[in-house]
Amino acid sequence: MKPLFLTPDENENKISAMISFFSVLIAGAKKLSMQYFKNIIPALLLITVLQINAQPKYAMVIHGGAGVMSEEKMSREARTEYEAKLKEALELGDKMLNEGATATDVVVKVINILEDSPLFNAGKGAVFTHDGKVELDASIMDGKTLNAGAVAGVRDIKNPICAAREVMLNSEHVFLSGKGASEFVKKQGLEIVPNKYFHTKARKESLEQLLKKERTRTNNDNTGTVGCVVSDSHGNLCAGTSTGGMTNKRYGRIGDTPVIGAGTYANNKTCAVSCTGHGEYYIRLGFARDISALMEYKNLTVQDACKTEIAKLTELNGTGGVIAIDRLGNIAMEFNTSGMFRGFIKSTGEKEVAIFK
Ligand code: ASP
Repeated sequence: MKPLFLTPDENENKISAMISFFSVLIAGAKKLSMQYFKNIIPALLLITVLQINAQPKYAMVIHGGAGVMSEEKMSREARTEYEAKLKEALELGDKMLNEGATATDVVVKVINILEDSPLFNAGKGAVFTHDGKVELDASIMDGKTLNAGAVAGVRDIKNPICAAREVMLNSEHVFLSGKGASEFVKKQGLEIVPNKYFHTKARKESLEQLLKKERTRTNNDNTGTVGCVVSDSHGNLCAGTSTGGMTNKRYGRIGDTPVIGAGTYANNKTCAVSCTGHGEYYIRLGFARDISALMEYKNLTVQDACKTEIAKLTELNGTGGVIAIDRLGNIAMEFNTSGMFRGFIKSTGEKEVAIFK
């Protein structure tokens, strides 16, 4: 298939090919003494080269979960804390990408920051199952090779996104679960922690309230899944997602996050995608892969593909959000909830951190 986008190297080749093409045209125009063409052709060449160079060398988008959020109800301190953590993650990604790091390394390191923060529903601070334990899911996918790794239902791996990367790079499998996943990554030297390490008071209270049925289930109980999509300076894409799933979930329940094609997907031909929301709907829609397919088969832009998929989610009464990026650094941050913790950076200096609609 014809590549949709060009890598930086391919860009350079394209620019030299264009220069040769325009030189031949100029020579032809000179011969014919066509004054008008002699002036207009270099101008056209300059405009085209400027357009190609305006393309960011790299870009990255992150999310910290979508859900019911109210600008009025969130305290100023909480908002500042969330924004500061998102900024910290974005700044690290920016620095690494500027130094030439690969998309995969950046996705892992950026997600580690969010997993280690109790603010998010991933790693420390993840939500509780019905049985009062924490069970974590994560996945990662490399858009260049279509290689992928995922872990589900792990209870003792400090950074599940690192486990997903180990599965991707150092095993012959794509998807490991529970004890098998833990044993494998222990051998790879990853940090193992007791389940208590993940527990926080706020998430415990959420579970207790749900168990007492003092209130109906809201997406707010789950908010905080984390994800990162990157287009690096080598022209490669990567996507990763990490979560504790949904509060009060049955033990053994697996959401969309570790399911390649549902919660996470990356393909250099199209885009890298990371999802957050009510996982069952994302699995049923094949959400992340569908976005890539809309770009590949219907030539939709990354933004239109995400909007189309969110509309499908809404039609099914599902809730959530998605972030995505293409190789040109075009990004999408779409959701049908009242908020999604999110942010992006581009090598051009553009950046944003946002929470509410
Ligand atoms: N998608 C996650 C799951 O269903 C939860 C979330 O993103 O809020 O496990």
